[in-house]
Amino acid sequence: MQEDVRPLITDRALEVQRAYMRSVRKANYRPQSYYIVTLGCQMNVRDSETLAGMLEEMGYQRAASREQADLILYNTCCVRENAENRALGNVIWLKELKKLKPRLLICVGGCMMQEKGMAETLKRQYPFIDLIFGTHNLHRFPELLFRVIHEEKQVCEVLDSEGGVAEGLPVRRTSPHMAFINIMYGCNNFCSYCIVPYVRGRERSREPQRILEEARQLRDAGVQEIMLLGQNVNSYGGGGDAFARLLTELDKVGIPRIRFMTSHPKDLSDQLIDCFGRLEHLTGQLHLPVQSGSNRILELMNRRYTREKYLGLVEKLRQVRPDVGLTSDIIVGFPGETQADFQDTLSLVEQARFDAAFTFIFSPRHQGGLHGRRYPHGREDPAHPAPHRPAAEPDPTGFGKPGGLPPAGAGGGGVHPGRGLRVRQDPAGPYGQFPGKYFPHRQLRGGGHPVRRPQYPAGTALPKLMAGCPARHAGSEGTGPNA
Ligand code: SF4
Repeated sequence: MQEDVRPLITDRALEVQRAYMRSVRKANYRPQSYYIVTLGCQMNVRDSETLAGMLEEMGYQRAASREQADLILYNTCCVRENAENRALGNVIWLKELKKLKPRLLICVGGCMMQEKGMAETLKRQYPFIDLIFGTHNLHRFPELLFRVIHEEKQVCEVLDSEGGVAEGLPVRRTSPHMAFINIMYGCNNFCSYCIVPYVRGRERSREPQRILEEARQLRDAGVQEIMLLGQNVNSYGGGGDAFARLLTELDKVGIPRIRFMTSHPKDLSDQLIDCFGRLEHLTGQLHLPVQSGSNRILELMNRRYTREKYLGLVEKLRQVRPDVGLTSDIIVGFPGETQADFQDTLSLVEQARFDAAFTFIFSPRHQGGLHGRRYPHGREDPAHPAPHRPAAEPDPTGFGKPGGLPPAGAGGGGVHPGRGLRVRQDPAGPYGQFPGKYFPHRQLRGGGHPVRRPQYPAGTALPKLMAGCPARHAGSEGTGPNA
């Protein structure tokens, strides 16, 4: 077993939760229904599958809509501002619904509740919410729900520390063909713009045997594709070659397609790159967030790699697997970013020849009020000092601050907040590799499935495309779980 594999939450503790599930099932005097709204990344989608599994064990059935449900659960996200605003907006809407249905149970969980002061604020300002819980005590959901039902008063429990890994919780998968498998939780990296280590805790990995067991069960159930999830899967089991070894074992299970996300470039080992050349079932697609092409900005972001290192990884990958589909995340307008830094990003994009990129405008958050927090988060933790953050000096062109425009000549276009760009290629290509088409954001709305009408010819230079189209604010959902 690897060094950083966390102890399991004990069988005894889980048996207590199973007993609560049975009690809730008995307590419900008639069949009850539930509806879960999931905001954020695939980690949250997977958590919602566990919550749905527990609810079904407790006798709840999935409702077709929120309006029809007896219990509505919001699994929130705080990584992107838009998801957070949506969650708060929806909670207020629920107040009206509860006036019409007084016995409606409203539960709110997820990353947003782990933010400092957020749960207390919600508890105070929205007394109609029945249950508030965080990500670290998700396995205690049956007990908390039992208390809501029996005590008939608001219950709020959010734990500060992450504790162990819960195995064997019931799960209600959303697809019979494709399944998410969590291999690790949390992150140790403290990128200066990211809140994840604060709300998801430090890294803890599942035991490889448990992951393999889950994969075999999925294979036997006919699942055709698994997606391994973690905020930074490359540091699974403490890093080194642990993730490559896990992939090698999973490849033998025989599920036709294996994917993973998300990968931090600093932890992309040679052994992992090698997997792309030798493993039969690993799809030839890698999401490798670069965030910026400027070494100065990468340092301010606390990313701990350089553009040269990143481009070197891309080259190695293409040597091992020339047809690899490479996607990335990019943040523009990071505090202190200059036109020269932006040009560095454009030139990196040109050299890396990404098949797709999710582009974000840096999104500063509220300095007080309801949110009461500051970014970058790393500065608030003395144990993990973040790099110096320069004052956000307004560029005369407006570029470098949220809502500003890139300079004329940086591709001839503009960064238009609110209109959003998702440069993306067709994920329905063979083995998940993208064939080289770009879609404007508008075509991706309505479920996120791209309309197959490329707006630009394949091979269009991405820098031109990036700068010529509106970038989207960090705020939309749908990308991978960080890194
Ligand atoms: S961006 Fe990714 S690697 Fe960096 S702190 Fe957030 S989750 Fe961790």
